[in-house]
Amino acid sequence: MKRNKSKKLYIKAQELIPGGVNSPVRAFKSVNSLPLFIAKASGSKIWDVDGNKFIEYVMSWGPLILGHSNPEVISAVKNVLKNGTSYGAPTEIEVKMAELINKMMPSVELVRMVNSGTEATMSAIRLARAYTGRKKIIKFEGCYHGHADSFLVKAGSGATTLGIPSSPGVPDEIASLTLNAKYNDIESVQKLIDENKGEIACIIVEPVAGNMGVVLPRNDFLKKLREICDREKIVLIFDEVITGFRLAPGGAQEYFGVEADLTTLGKIIGGGFPVGAYGGKKEIMELVAPSGPVYQAGTLSGNPIAMTAGYTTLKILYEKRKTLYKQLEHKARTLAENFKDIADKNGVKVQVNQIGSMLTVFFNDYEVYDYESALRSDVKKFAMFFNSMLENGVYLPPSQFEAMFLSSAHTDDDIEKTIKAFEISIRNLKA
Ligand SMILES: *Cc1c(COP(=O)(O)O)cnc(C)c1O
Repeated sequence: MKRNKSKKLYIKAQELIPGGVNSPVRAFKSVNSLPLFIAKASGSKIWDVDGNKFIEYVMSWGPLILGHSNPEVISAVKNVLKNGTSYGAPTEIEVKMAELINKMMPSVELVRMVNSGTEATMSAIRLARAYTGRKKIIKFEGCYHGHADSFLVKAGSGATTLGIPSSPGVPDEIASLTLNAKYNDIESVQKLIDENKGEIACIIVEPVAGNMGVVLPRNDFLKKLREICDREKIVLIFDEVITGFRLAPGGAQEYFGVEADLTTLGKIIGGGFPVGAYGGKKEIMELVAPSGPVYQAGTLSGNPIAMTAGYTTLKILYEKRKTLYKQLEHKARTLAENFKDIADKNGVKVQVNQIGSMLTVFFNDYEVYDYESALRSDVKKFAMFFNSMLENGVYLPPSQFEAMFLSSAHTDDDIEKTIKAFEISIRNLKA
């Protein structure tokens, strides 16, 4: 595989950008490789600047559930571009967006648009603190909620990939207000609550964890969180930045039949543009300025370009919901089942965690159900596997602790080729 142009760009980028990339995991560090610089993408395919073509499962880290350059999304964006890019004043598309979000995710009675998932989560905890008059928050080890100070305490995603789950620069005073429970361990939650009686403002959770690799909630974990929050008057925040509109039209809340008080959204909701949102119960959301005293604002929030891309994406998802989600799940399950079979046949121990259109192959002898069990994975094996997949035309997320994402643009042929590449890569691992 030729990589001359990517290498050249990376050398130059490192002189100008910290680590040569604008988001850490992109640097391919944990897979002992160098990043590919991308030239273009269409459907399920991506091309780098050296002309290599890949079937890919990053999908911009989740947003592109309809695949790259979806014709309807692109054409809608082109159309609104003619009228300018942003006015700093309300537009009709924001109302339509809020209405559609509410229709798909009924617990979101009021919604505020922001520009990233990070903004959504940090605004949601500010609001939960204001609403309850309490300071402390509970999150889960290995869950990632963006890079705001309060969340960089045993965080997942790139922080875990690079081995810096807690970051310098976050004052102890702030970090001490973030309590970490264990995913899928309801007793660890109850213990924190007992030790901090009347001090917990909110519990924030990825209803399906996607940032320590895919980890499914089990034993009615979400339902029990709901019960605890009701009992203790704690605000339950589902961080559905990944799962929103991906697991089901109404996200994980619909999939598992558990409603959150506040929900944070991002990724898919921007249709490939920078967007986030937080919303939920009217009684809580009404505290947000200007209807209430909790300040939060954004120069480009709700701009017509991003809203159009997001709205068009959601509308397609909504209209095709009866078939689209089943098809996505089927493709992901086909991958998961074949991966497991092939690995088993070759005596390579893997755990394949899959739900809906997201999955992770953990190189791990034991079940993966929380952060600790995820960290037991063999990251060296993953790195070899990743590079072999790449050589065989399949571009995966460059970390053991991330999710593969399927899109509606992935074809049966893509799935077949991916399974073939997997077989070759697993055999290479043994050799
Ligand atoms: C990606 C992600 C975020 C952060 O979103 P950004 O747009 O990258 O700031 C927050 N929460 C979850 C669950 C995510 O996956």
